[in-house]
Amino acid sequence: MRHFAIVGSGPAGFYTAEALEKAYGDGARVDILDRFPVPYGLIRFGVAPDHQSLKAVSKRYDKVAESPGVDFIGNVTVGRDVSVDELLEFYDAVILAIGAPHDRKLGIPGEDLPGVIGSAEFVGWYNGHPEFADLDPPLDGSHAAVIGNGNVALDCARILSKTRAEFEGSDIVGHALEALDKSAIRTITILGRRGPHQIAMTPKELGELGHLEAALPIVDLRDFPPREADEALEPGQRKSVTILREFADLRANKRTTMVFDFFAKPIAIEGEGRAEHIVVERTELDDKGGARGTGETYEVPASLIISCIGYSTPPIDGVAYDKRGGKFLNERGKIGDRLYAVGWARRGPTGTIGTNRPDGYEVADQIAADMPPGSSSDRPGAEGLKALLEGRGVMPTDYDDWRKIEATEVARARPGSPREKFVRVEHWLETLGR
Ligand code: NAP
Repeated sequence: MRHFAIVGSGPAGFYTAEALEKAYGDGARVDILDRFPVPYGLIRFGVAPDHQSLKAVSKRYDKVAESPGVDFIGNVTVGRDVSVDELLEFYDAVILAIGAPHDRKLGIPGEDLPGVIGSAEFVGWYNGHPEFADLDPPLDGSHAAVIGNGNVALDCARILSKTRAEFEGSDIVGHALEALDKSAIRTITILGRRGPHQIAMTPKELGELGHLEAALPIVDLRDFPPREADEALEPGQRKSVTILREFADLRANKRTTMVFDFFAKPIAIEGEGRAEHIVVERTELDDKGGARGTGETYEVPASLIISCIGYSTPPIDGVAYDKRGGKFLNERGKIGDRLYAVGWARRGPTGTIGTNRPDGYEVADQIAADMPPGSSSDRPGAEGLKALLEGRGVMPTDYDDWRKIEATEVARARPGSPREKFVRVEHWLETLGR
C-alpha cells in the first residue's frame, strides 16, 4: 500500500487525486487536505458566482471524493497544525496544491490607502471566503477602477455592474448582494498598461460585457491598431479583439459605463485618508511589446480600486520557493524527494480550470515512475496524521461533514440562489455540532 497526501482541495488537488487513483487503483490511499472544512478551493472561492456552469465541475470532484481510496481531511492547516516534513514521515509522497491565494502588489505609492483592494480580497468577499467576509468594499463613490486586462478584471467589473436580477441563479453571498444592490458606482474604468492586442481576456468572458442589463462597455477605436493587424493574432485573441472593437458600435443609455482605458499604467494612488484617484502614465509599446511610459500623466477618479494583476502562492517553511514567480521551485512539478507541486503552486497563476488536469496527471505519472504501482511502504498515512492532530487538539473534518454543511447551505438558500453560503469557519463547525 502507498499513502499520498495532497494539500489543497481545489481543481489541481482533485485532478491529481483522480490521476493517482487511476494509476494505483486500490494499491494506494489518497488523502486530500484542506485548511477549511469545505472543499473545492478556487471553485468555491474564486470562480465567479454568476458562472455556475463552470462551478458544476465540482460534481466530477465529488465522484473522486466519494471513491473508496480517497478521503477528504478538512480543517487542517499545513505549516501550522502539521509541517510538510511531518507529512513526509506519514506519507509516501506529498503534493502541494495550495493554489495562489495572495494578491500581487502593485508596488506604487498609495496602494495601502483605504479603498484599494486586491482581487483575491474582492472576489473572496463576494464568494464567501471567511478571511474577507468583513472586507466591506467602499461602494459609496460614483467611480471605481479595475487595474489589469485579464479575466479576473472582467469578473470584478461585471460583478460591480450587475443588477440584483442578474444575480438570479448565482451563489453570490447575501452580504455582497445587499451591498452591491445599494452601490453608487456609475463609472468603472478598466486600466490596461498595454493595448487591445495585449489583453489577456477570453472571448466568452469579454462578450458577456456587451449583454449586461445596466452597464455599457466603452472603447476608443483610436487605441486600436489598423484592423488588418488583427490577422496576425492567434484565433482566440483575434476573437477577443473583434469583440472589443464591436463594443464601439454599442449605443444605449445605461446606468453604468465601463470604460476601457488602454496604454494606461498606474503610477500612484492619491487621496486624503482614502483613495480618490489614480495617477496614470500614458504608455506605448516598446520593441519587445512591453509598456513604455511616455511621461504624459493624468488622473482617473476612483474611490474603489481593485487591482487584478495576478496572484502568488504563499511560501511554506522549508519548501524551496521561487520568489519572482510567486510559486514553489520545482522541476516539472517535483520540488524535492517525494515532494511535488501541482496547479498554480507549480506553474504560477495562469490557465483555466481544465489546465490543471494534464498538470495533475503529469505529476501523478512522475510519482508512479518513482514508486511503481504495486510497490509498498510501511508509512502509516492518515492514521499517523490523525494521531498527531489529535495530540495537538486539531479536529479534522471529513467528506460527510462537508455534505452536511452543503445540505444546510442549500436548505437556507434565498429564492433564486442554489445555496446561501456560510462565510465563517465557526458557522461551518457549528453546523457539525463542534
Ligand atoms: P492574467 O490573465 O495574468 O492578467 C493579469 C493582468 O494584469 C494583465 O493584463 C497584466 O498586464 C496586468 N498587470 C500585471 N501587472 C501589472 C501592473 N503592475 N500594473 C498594471 N497591470 C498589470 O491574470 P488574472 O486575470 O488574475 O487571471 C489568472 C488566470 O485565471 C488567467 O489564466 C485567467 O484566464 C484565469 N481566469 C479565467 C476565468 C474564466 O475562464 N472565466 C476567470 C478568471 C480567471 P500585462 O499583460 O501587461 O502583464
